[in-house]
Amino acid sequence: PVVVHWFKRDLRIRDNTSLSRASALAKEKGGGVIGLWILSPEDWEAHIVSPAKCDFEVRSVQLLKEELMQDFGIPLHTILVPYRKDVVGKVLGLAEEWGARNVFCNLEYEVDELRREEKLIREGLKNDVNVEVWHDDCVVPPGELKTGTGKQYAVYTPWFRSWLQYLHANPHVLDERHPPSPNPPSFTATFKHLHDTPTPSVPSSKQFTTSSEKTRIQTLYPAGETAALTRLTHFLSQKIGAYNTTRNFPSLHSTSSVSMHHAAGTLSARTSIRSARAINSTKRLDGGLEGVRVWISEVAWRDFYRHVLVHWPYICMSKPFKYEYTNISWETNPTHLTAWKQGKTGYPIVDAAMRCLNHTAYMHNRNRMIVASFLAKHLLLDWRLGERYFMSRLVDGDFASNNGGWGFAASTGVDPQPYFRVFNPWLQGEKFDGEGDFVREWVEELRDVKGKGVLNPYEAGGEAERVARRNGYPRPIVEHRVARERCLERYKSGLGRG
Ligand code: FAD
Repeated sequence: PVVVHWFKRDLRIRDNTSLSRASALAKEKGGGVIGLWILSPEDWEAHIVSPAKCDFEVRSVQLLKEELMQDFGIPLHTILVPYRKDVVGKVLGLAEEWGARNVFCNLEYEVDELRREEKLIREGLKNDVNVEVWHDDCVVPPGELKTGTGKQYAVYTPWFRSWLQYLHANPHVLDERHPPSPNPPSFTATFKHLHDTPTPSVPSSKQFTTSSEKTRIQTLYPAGETAALTRLTHFLSQKIGAYNTTRNFPSLHSTSSVSMHHAAGTLSARTSIRSARAINSTKRLDGGLEGVRVWISEVAWRDFYRHVLVHWPYICMSKPFKYEYTNISWETNPTHLTAWKQGKTGYPIVDAAMRCLNHTAYMHNRNRMIVASFLAKHLLLDWRLGERYFMSRLVDGDFASNNGGWGFAASTGVDPQPYFRVFNPWLQGEKFDGEGDFVREWVEELRDVKGKGVLNPYEAGGEAERVARRNGYPRPIVEHRVARERCLERYKSGLGRG
């Protein structure tokens, strides 16, 4: 008997719920596992997946394919299915071709994906194929945590308390899933030809614009499960101890940088939490080393935003979580939008962050908050424009976390920053890039400015201003106080109309 495991956003062998279950069933029945991975260009288009992320996934799949065959004799069949509507039919068609009566996969919680999985189960039933979908992507499965009145939490802090309680009461949830057993050699021999199908390449619309960009991104982000574990181990052994004090300063490079692995599933969030707990001075998740405790609470945000998405799926349809914010009248200003995207707003911390994103496909969390707030509140541009731009560039683009982050910064999301709290980008720069090192690293025009003047050269005057002028660094495109007033007035009147 053949059991199929369909790899999606779980491009790893270790700690993979569905793969582990598929393998257990195959072993019980004296059969083997076939892996399947489908590249669906329409999905990548619809979800605005960045070239960096597409490339990261394909590279991860190639490594997965080799490791699965070498260590487990599991063939991974990799194919391209041009139209999304054909994906379910293709999965079941292949199952029939291989004589498989069981197809397993891990759940993806966004609306399109849930509908697809539902269709797979329904069509599977008609074709006498047992389809099993598993919770795997969240540490605590969505739906498990309820408020005292049986509702879904919409505020992080009490949700997090309940998340901790759940994990302390059900410690097995964090256990590593069993690795798959090797396939019997005769099974591997029969299906070896599936392993030999070449991995489809990234479609032309999603390729990097230059080969130098490709080399740069590939060097920055080694793909695959082994690279993920190396990154995690490095962070846990070198940096996590100081994470609570260093994590807000972009120039320190002090965070884990495993987000692209969580997003592609080359690393499970469960493994991250379990590994952090293992190096802590206590078995509890809310005590011991402060750095570990805080890091665990950050990884938990990822679960929080997924739980929210499962309960309020309308956020997948471009609607704000808080419907009363639907009536804010946003500015239409393509010049400002372009200046923001290109990092030419005249606010050095914003520009440095955006240029870093454009160059590296990654942005530090503090900077994500600063630039998102700047777009929605200072420029009063619709936050969804920024949300989309992030997805189109980020190597770690992830719908739930990105949507959650934008909703937080624009005050339209779940458990947001109150709308009247408008980040002051000048102060943010002073607080989190005190010496201006991050700005100097990314804003070429200001590289020669010494000292803090780099954070606001036209205000600082003197040499800072001379350098900025000489190199054509733009003046601020909006004035902070004016922008802040306009924002408060516009949000208030939008709410009034709600
Ligand atoms: P660390 O600080 O080391 O955190 C460890 C892990 O915890 C991260 O890898 C990530 O998986 C998770 N995490 C940390 N903070 C958050 C958070 N606020 N929300 C959800 N998960 C979190 N994260 C993404 O993975 N993909 C996105 O598309 C994304 N878009 C964002 C957009 C905005 C506007 C904002 C404010 C935040 C966004 N984040 C997103 C969250 C966060 O910025 C990144 O996860 C983090 O910067 C990744 O770097 P790291 O791996 O070094 O994080």
